[in-house]
Amino acid sequence: MEPLGKIRFERRELLRLGVGLAALGAAAGCGPERPYSAADAESLAEQERRERERSGGGPDGRLRFRGYRGLAELPWFEPAPGGGLRLAVELPPVFDVHVHLGMALLFAPALDLGRRTQRVHYLLDCDAAEPPCEIDLDVYVNSNFDAAARSRLRRELLAQGLWGSRAAATHTVPNLLAEMDALGIARAALLPIAFGLPFRDRLTESWLIAVERSGAGARLWPGASVHPRDPEKLVKLRGYAARGARIVKLHPAGQRCYADEPGALEIYAECERLGLPVLLHAGRAGLEPESVLGYNLPRHLEGALAAFPRLPFVLGHAGARDAGAVLALARAHPNAWLDVHGQAAGVLREILDALGPERLLFGSDWPWYPQALSLAKVLLVTEGRPEARRAVLGGNAERLFAAAERSASSGS
Ligand SMILES: [Zn+2]
Repeated sequence: MEPLGKIRFERRELLRLGVGLAALGAAAGCGPERPYSAADAESLAEQERRERERSGGGPDGRLRFRGYRGLAELPWFEPAPGGGLRLAVELPPVFDVHVHLGMALLFAPALDLGRRTQRVHYLLDCDAAEPPCEIDLDVYVNSNFDAAARSRLRRELLAQGLWGSRAAATHTVPNLLAEMDALGIARAALLPIAFGLPFRDRLTESWLIAVERSGAGARLWPGASVHPRDPEKLVKLRGYAARGARIVKLHPAGQRCYADEPGALEIYAECERLGLPVLLHAGRAGLEPESVLGYNLPRHLEGALAAFPRLPFVLGHAGARDAGAVLALARAHPNAWLDVHGQAAGVLREILDALGPERLLFGSDWPWYPQALSLAKVLLVTEGRPEARRAVLGGNAERLFAAAERSASSGS
């Protein structure tokens, strides 16, 4: 990770930063840390080298655009009147399985998640600068962002826990619904994370309330998250399910717990009983602090997949920069599904050819990025394959939730 020292702070902010970092230090982790080897570091560097060499070499050729707005050059989008993009074609029903709302943790003032704002400030916002950054659809999504964009991201993430993030104030229910409307996206699953903080670690509750107040529960399916070390985790999960949560999210690096630790396995057993699929962040994104990179390694996912063969697990970002290892896991475990967010178009095409479309799910990771960014790649690789397109965009999501319900009824 680049040093925090690159970010400038006011004195008031520094005080909160100190207390906030202490709170993070006190945050619950799980068992002892496992080795992160030189070979692990090398495989990440190798992925970054290889994708640079391969970019633009696939059947679609060069896939570089001037900012998010530049995606209007593609046949499926056009510029929308108030900025942003809208759909220019008809698509089958679309279900986005990977979306978040604004985060206010620790000291950050509460957000009004029911507010409509003029513009969404994405956490990685290519259109924020003039000229906008270049977007290459044929590299892992995070490779598009330079040191300045990454520094802005770190500042926003700190702000979400300390003094309040201006970007997060635009990650609201009405803004999400407006973007979904513009792009013909029917439904989305909201994925909170329980970080294990000592206080104000209540994303699941605040997002459930935001959805309840919006009356948009038919389109926004709330998710739940609990920390594997939380002694109340199973009681909380049952309560969230009773209030309408439809999916459970765990994030190994964000929670500092490997996906196969005993506390996590207890969560999966309860998800199986409740009929809730589990979305696990999978693979290294290349943005994490180095100290937690190892939690996201695919080899720590296998124990979860093997222990609960009836429970569907969605592996987030199809393994991010570890797509090869996560594809191998998906081939070995029929209960592994892949949310394809973030992958380079060429890699996504390889995954589709190797695994078939049946367990691939459209996800956008909004509001880190606009939904059109991930949608563009799914449309590129499914051009001329209408059955695959229908399945990945939404048909598979229906089957995923049905599979989770079956895991409950076949219960042990
Ligand atoms: Zn995400």
